[in-house]
Amino acid sequence: MEVKSIEVIEIKIKLEEIGPRDGFQNVKEFIPTDIKLKIIDGIVSAGYKKIEITSLVSPKAIPQMRDAQEVIKSCLKRYPDVELFALVPNLYGARTAVELGLKEVCPVISLSETHNKANVNKTVEESLRQIKEIKETFPKLKLTIDIATAFACPFEGEMKLEDLIALIQKLYDMGIRSFMLCDTIGKAYPKQVEKVFRTVKSEFKDCTFGAHIHDTRNMGILNTYIAIENGADSIQTSLGGLGGCPFAPGASGNTSSEDLVYALNQDGYDTGIDFDKLLEVAKYEKSVIEGNYSGHHINIESDICKR
Ligand code: ZN
Repeated sequence: MEVKSIEVIEIKIKLEEIGPRDGFQNVKEFIPTDIKLKIIDGIVSAGYKKIEITSLVSPKAIPQMRDAQEVIKSCLKRYPDVELFALVPNLYGARTAVELGLKEVCPVISLSETHNKANVNKTVEESLRQIKEIKETFPKLKLTIDIATAFACPFEGEMKLEDLIALIQKLYDMGIRSFMLCDTIGKAYPKQVEKVFRTVKSEFKDCTFGAHIHDTRNMGILNTYIAIENGADSIQTSLGGLGGCPFAPGASGNTSSEDLVYALNQDGYDTGIDFDKLLEVAKYEKSVIEGNYSGHHINIESDICKR
């Protein structure tokens, strides 16, 4: 039998690194700002063109992010060609982002009422009003809405697709066109991811939908791949798989950037990311920051993964 060589796809896929926000915010001990910047520098050197660099939350809520303004200022100066964005919990955060010069922010809202309450101490309606306020106050600021617990909630279980569609519709009516569907606790499963992405992509044709999937059940790469194959416009992962969710019991690390980049590069996708450089940064990060890592490559001591 003749074996044909594997066909090279060369599809461009937009990868976003979110470790400096989602990863770092789950580390208890304060990470010195120069270490944060060194890691972001490595991420840029590896080829990332879009990075979530911090979160403009109250330092009381998440002390790890107390240097957010410094990180933003420094990154804006150093990487004019990289799309830099931050999570903002409210209008105050959005105003700070605009003042500092960020072009894009991510307000967060949970599909699940109980998780929204635990995460931001607001009802979903209150969060919607707040997003509307941000949109109206800063019409030029790009908003990508992080929809947390889009697939499952630690308190309410599997979420209903029709409820997700209804929430997106409310945000759409405010003029929002960019969404990140987050599997906050890593409970999504392949057929669900397929159905969700197929549905949202056909219901909201002029919107972009990204995937942000946690790796609790070791399904991060699988589910992320399913999202890509079903039309996800961008993918968020975290260096080393560092992460979790401070307000979602049981949430494990994120899908690891270097594991995903390895798979996509080998499969012939055009990621623009250098795997070896990325792995080096991930290993450096693990050597200086103690945290919850789900990445597999960083746990391999030899260079076996390069062979
Ligand atoms: Zn996350």
